[in-house]
Amino acid sequence: MKLIDGNAIAEQIRKEIAAEAASIIDKGLPAPHLAAILVGNDPASMTYVANKEKDCKACGFISSIYRLDEKTTEKSILELVDFLNNDHEVDGFIVQLPLPAHIRVNKVIENISPAKDVDGFHPVNLGRMMINIPSYLPATPYGIVELIRRYGIETEGQHCVVIGRSNIVGTPVSVLLSRNTNPGNCTVTLCHSRTQHLKEICLQADILIAAIGKKWFVTADMVKQDAVVIDVGMHRIESAESKSGFRLTGDVKFDEVSKKCSYITPVPGGVGPMTRIGLLTNTLKAAKKEIYT
Ligand code: NAP
Repeated sequence: MKLIDGNAIAEQIRKEIAAEAASIIDKGLPAPHLAAILVGNDPASMTYVANKEKDCKACGFISSIYRLDEKTTEKSILELVDFLNNDHEVDGFIVQLPLPAHIRVNKVIENISPAKDVDGFHPVNLGRMMINIPSYLPATPYGIVELIRRYGIETEGQHCVVIGRSNIVGTPVSVLLSRNTNPGNCTVTLCHSRTQHLKEICLQADILIAAIGKKWFVTADMVKQDAVVIDVGMHRIESAESKSGFRLTGDVKFDEVSKKCSYITPVPGGVGPMTRIGLLTNTLKAAKKEIYT
């Protein structure tokens, strides 16, 4: 079994991005600029946005954060989105999700200019991804495919089973791996909570991607010998061994599944660090006007 080291690959790509940003700045051009809209005080969202700011700094990007009150109206958010769409100093921006219940998430996403939608959630970017023309890819699916690419894992003709059909992970990764690309050309089965005979389907997987949001859901009896297992899940559990009293774990029962597979992503240190890289990659593309000229 080989461990897929997301931290190491993420660090490698981070250096590549920083070098590109430095060469942009050397030419006298402005540094890539990512903005984030943060609504309310959700601790997880605040941590994610702080990490995005840290990542920007590490790569020589500019970052700005727009903080809005929990009770902000949808109209105010849409006005800020419109402002950022027209701010020539900002290359791309994100609206940190989840948003408070009184805000229509899709309405907000649809109002982001596709050219600045570095989360890759706008229907135009998702549509371009579907028909395999350049687009900003959602960060987690990008991260999964990039790990597969950089580890040289064969995907052509392989049966890939994805468990979970969310708009941000399961559905887009199933599209990416079924496209006529490399990595890609898989035969993909997309499973969800209404799927029947899930275990039997999983046992057919050469590549099994778990994006369910249920701790230790995938057990060894669901995994074919020598399969590649990608664990997207992220759960905080109590741990006496860590200083904080918590540690992260995934959707896969790592101890038993790792004994059966050819490759596996650990949690933490697998898909998570690559998700952070996805946003930087898109911001760099936005600054270079690589997709929308
Ligand atoms: P989500 O929106 O909650 O979607 C979960 C999916 O799993 C749904 O499609 C659901 O089916 C399916 N599902 C639930 N129970 C199932 C069951 N018993 N059998 C088969 N399918 C089942 O979750 P998400 O946003 O995609 O995230 C999934 C996990 O990845 C979470 O743990 C999240 O924290 C983690 N995550 C990690 C990263 C990272 O960077 N590592 C990024 C994003 C998410 P239905 O559609 O039928 O409800």
